[in-house]
Amino acid sequence: MNDKKSYTGIDGFRFLAAFFIIAIHTSPLSSFSETGDFVLTRVFARVAVPFFFMTSGFFLISRYHYYPKKRRDFVKRTAFIYGISILIYLPVNIYNHYFEMDYLAPNFIKDIFFDGTFYHLWYLPASAIGAELAWFLVKKFDYKNAFTASFVLYLIGLFGDSYYGFSEQIAGLKGFYGLVFQISDYTRNGIFFAPVFFVMGGWFADNRRSSFFSKSWRGFLISFTLMIVEAFSLRHFGTQRHDSMYVCLIPCMYFLFQVILQFQGKRLVKIRTISLILYIIHPMMILGVRIFAKVVHLQKLLIENSFLHYLMVCLASMIVAFFVSYLHRNYLPKKKVYQSEKDRSYIELNLKNLEHNVKVLQRAMKPRCKLMAVVKTEAYGHGAYEVSIHLNKMGVRAFAVASVEEGIRLREYGIKGEILILGYTAVHRAADLRKYDLSQTLIDFDYASALNKQGITVNVHIKIDTGMHRLGIAVEDTAKVKKVFTMKNLNVSGIFTHLSCSDSRCTDDVLFTKGQLGHFYELLDELKRNGISIPRLHMQSSYGFLNYPDQICSFVRVGIALYGVKSSPMDDTVMKLDLRPVLSLKTRVILIRFVKKGEYVGYGRSFFAERDSRIAILPIGYGDGVPRNLSNGNGKVRIGGYLVPVIGRVCMDQLAVDITDTKDIMVGDTAVLIGDSAEDEISAPVIAESFGSISNELLCRMGARLPVVVK
Ligand SMILES: *Cc1c(COP(=O)(O)O)cnc(C)c1O
Repeated sequence: MNDKKSYTGIDGFRFLAAFFIIAIHTSPLSSFSETGDFVLTRVFARVAVPFFFMTSGFFLISRYHYYPKKRRDFVKRTAFIYGISILIYLPVNIYNHYFEMDYLAPNFIKDIFFDGTFYHLWYLPASAIGAELAWFLVKKFDYKNAFTASFVLYLIGLFGDSYYGFSEQIAGLKGFYGLVFQISDYTRNGIFFAPVFFVMGGWFADNRRSSFFSKSWRGFLISFTLMIVEAFSLRHFGTQRHDSMYVCLIPCMYFLFQVILQFQGKRLVKIRTISLILYIIHPMMILGVRIFAKVVHLQKLLIENSFLHYLMVCLASMIVAFFVSYLHRNYLPKKKVYQSEKDRSYIELNLKNLEHNVKVLQRAMKPRCKLMAVVKTEAYGHGAYEVSIHLNKMGVRAFAVASVEEGIRLREYGIKGEILILGYTAVHRAADLRKYDLSQTLIDFDYASALNKQGITVNVHIKIDTGMHRLGIAVEDTAKVKKVFTMKNLNVSGIFTHLSCSDSRCTDDVLFTKGQLGHFYELLDELKRNGISIPRLHMQSSYGFLNYPDQICSFVRVGIALYGVKSSPMDDTVMKLDLRPVLSLKTRVILIRFVKKGEYVGYGRSFFAERDSRIAILPIGYGDGVPRNLSNGNGKVRIGGYLVPVIGRVCMDQLAVDITDTKDIMVGDTAVLIGDSAEDEISAPVIAESFGSISNELLCRMGARLPVVVK
């Protein structure tokens, strides 16, 4: 998860990286030591541009599933900055007779897309092209394959860059690179160089695990040392046509980024703009310092002394960058924080609460019992992607879904650990069960035989029916259960049952549940007596666990409790845990209108204005999961400090609320339909009860169209 705290390192390093880039273009150590300058500008500073690409990838590629617009916006923004930069350098281009070159048109096009119209500006088209390619690859494949593909591109680039000496020896390769160089002067461009770093950046954002500081440092130092050796060897053999790309640059960046991510603290927002401005304007400042030195006759000091020259350029660039960034902050329209998914209606997740619930539940569980997160139906409407990825990162390694498709999707998101399909899967999908390493529930004996006959070894959990009479082999059918253990294509890794009234604390229901558990244990004893070693056990869902916490088992299948809500507001449980709601449902006031006394609102004229009224229209309806039963005052919505009633009928995409008795509600205000506090009058259980259902259903309905935003 993109935990806000951990951007500090990235922000800080942006600043440093900008100075590395200035160093590349000014060679600060060249007056003192040629070798030192080589190490600084041709090796060390070479991490700067890949770092910028990775950072862009970190913010852009991450969670790409949800925000297709992000890509377009990134490319547009980069193109805009590129356009401005081209204009800024136009006078210098004219002065340098750029526009008088031969074959201007093809060269200009080539420069626009690959080489940049001024030497350092190649970075901007490379960003845009790299972003597009990386996005395409990650979307088409997964991170692993996208990395492989972009790494292959990188290798092709490498042999046109610092390893070109080798390619030159081979006629075919030389011809190939000859063609490439017709289009782009170097292979360090958006096609060969940038994508791999974008992919790595995205991967880091989506696969964060706490790593060890010392380990990352060590990794960095080792790969960096190797990179120095690599660079010197290549220089020695004279293979370098250019010196941006090294084999060791990839591990180097991997470890460096890990180190950087571990610096946590406040965001340093201003630095983002400043480092970009530094990047763009520093060549101008190099010119400026030269002109200045000439005018004041200080060439010896300010130009010939490479280090002072570097410092002067840095200083001048900083002054201008701070000034421009000041203007940008105060006089230019603010760049909106990218969350246009909040424009309409959205689900907001409080992942801190999710984390809290996981910890509370885990602490309450018996030793060796693991939490199996039930994430069926888009994690109860919360968004299976966000929820599972976050749980996986927290170390949760068991998941349950209802269908094979849901299981495959989790694997495509990169979820690790066991994934159990609780429901029916057609037996001809056995190959998919195997391919995606999904465990299948055996819903009865005939099903088990049919699945076994597919001839593909699959992991299964046997479901035992102890009284729910829905799925499972009847608990009395000991012989059939035993037989399943002998089926050679079924690898039985679990056995479980489901309690049908564990949420109730009435005496009858408690007796019934104890009966279910008792029969289940008898079956297990019988299996043991027959020499069958018992696979992993599980029998409790959320309420089963909260009301019968003392079972010895391998998993607790937690659904609704994970999301921090009760099914119904009055539910009471034996074990009382402090669980906190994870989801809020929010939307925005998009219109405020006046309705005269005697007029109607909505379908069926079901709201009649008994006075002159003010109503707000919210762009959310039953198509988003808002129950239609909340029509006509049954539902309430919070806007600002007010709780206002739904009027008229809830439509598929719209609903109206009466705001006559409120002041200062404006178009654009956020409206909350489900709040994320357990005490809320509009918490999920309360709303669910108001239309005769349970939170589980209310939440599940919301998966279809709403974007998920992390709070
Ligand atoms: C959905 C489901 C669960 C989770 O139930 P909650 O009450 O939401 O915890 C557990 N087990 C099975 C078999 C299920 O179908």
